[in-house]
Amino acid sequence: MKDKHIGILGAGIVGLSTALYLQKIGYKVTIIDKEEPGMGASFGNAGLFADYARLPFSKFSMLRKVPNMLMDKNGSLSIQTRYLPHIMQYGYEFTKACFKDKYAQGKAAMKFLQERSLDADQELIALTNAQHLIRGEGCLGLFSTTEGLLKAKQGDLKERQEQGVNMQFVSANDVRDMEPDLASFHSGGVFYPDTRFTVSPVLLSRQYAHHFTSNGGCILQDEVLALSTREHDVSVHLSDSTLTFDEIVVCTGLASKKILARLDLKVPLVSERGYHLMLNAGCKTLQRPVGWLDKAIFMTPMEDSLRLAGMAEFAFEHTSIAQARLDTLLQHANVMLGPDAQATTTWVGSRPSTPDSLPFIGPLEQHPRIKVAFGHGHLGLTFAAITGKLIAQSIQNPQNNDDLTPFLVSRFG
Ligand SMILES: Cc1cc2nc3c(=O)[nH]c(=O)nc-3n(C[C@H](O)[C@H](O)[C@H](O)COP(=O)(O)OP(=O)(O)OC[C@H]3O[C@@H](n4cnc5c(N)ncnc54)[C@H](O)[C@@H]3O)c2cc1C
Repeated sequence: MKDKHIGILGAGIVGLSTALYLQKIGYKVTIIDKEEPGMGASFGNAGLFADYARLPFSKFSMLRKVPNMLMDKNGSLSIQTRYLPHIMQYGYEFTKACFKDKYAQGKAAMKFLQERSLDADQELIALTNAQHLIRGEGCLGLFSTTEGLLKAKQGDLKERQEQGVNMQFVSANDVRDMEPDLASFHSGGVFYPDTRFTVSPVLLSRQYAHHFTSNGGCILQDEVLALSTREHDVSVHLSDSTLTFDEIVVCTGLASKKILARLDLKVPLVSERGYHLMLNAGCKTLQRPVGWLDKAIFMTPMEDSLRLAGMAEFAFEHTSIAQARLDTLLQHANVMLGPDAQATTTWVGSRPSTPDSLPFIGPLEQHPRIKVAFGHGHLGLTFAAITGKLIAQSIQNPQNNDDLTPFLVSRFG
């Protein structure tokens, strides 16, 4: 039934990737977004296709660190007091996801996505001629102290090695050779040679959008207010009109929670805000993204300048930017590059985060004509293409959705 008309709600990197896959196999596709493409969370990320990221955050060792992390005023983790009631369900599900069997299932599900991500990405990048926006210099993850690195070698890094992630341990001297402009703030770390990055997340979204419209796709700028379903179609209620589609895919990032709530569906999705600074660091630059893992930040050489991104601030999406987080990021920039780095622009955006670090991908049990593709947390750029591919397959071949079981909304009962 290639004559179906599919509506995609949201033109972030996930919605655009999904639209491209559906268009590629011959469906008529319309995207609806209240903003220009790529202006949500997809605008400001660190740009990594993080192929090494195969471990859910939900583990007891992480949970034990939370109180100390929250006490540290310059730390990466914070919770806005009035947002606390909104993360109770998330916290409860996060704790449940830490148990051994759930954690193992989460790891297997992330591996499933990762093993298919590179091919899916490359397919979209070739399709849209976006090669000029992609670099393949690997990435570095550095530790402040030798003890920190040793601990990681017995923990997360060991788990990743067991998962077959390609990695090399590097000394501080190795790093000096690889990144001569970096200051000596670290004791070495790990190099992931296969990691790629984009030099402009927003241009990547725009390139995808351009390809989509050049091939007959339609992008409407309007706000989705509600959905209603009938046996053979789905209606999307916009600010002053209603559009009807054979099927729709909800890719509205964090806002998906509100949209699903109108269908009486509750999802434990939270706003985990992250920040970035664009830096003027004189002539200093990097060859590849560099993570300072103790601080949970990444510095990436973007097209025009270096971007320092990070922070996990559980807070309402539309509250003002917290100057303290920007100050902390700038302090980190000055430690990484030497004292002269200055911020030229700043940004804050909400990661749509789930308790088990897995996105929601697949049909809604109660409304099979509505598919969902949101909740990608820290890995939306990394998993966008494979998400689009899996959604397109599930629309094309609805009988064969078994692979999507770990990603269904119903996993949270
Ligand atoms: C600081 C930071 C660093 C990050 N670094 C990385 C990284 O290096 N690698 C990685 O893989 N991921 C990273 N991420 C995560 C990644 O950016 C997100 O997971 C991803 O952008 C989510 O994409 P999305 O398309 O689901 O959401 P979005 O980009 O937010 O898109 C959702 C779209 O829906 C639209 N919308 C919302 N409500 C409505 C409505 N009612 N009607 C119409 N349209 C609506 C919005 O306008 C928006 O365009 C990072 C995130 C942050 C914050």
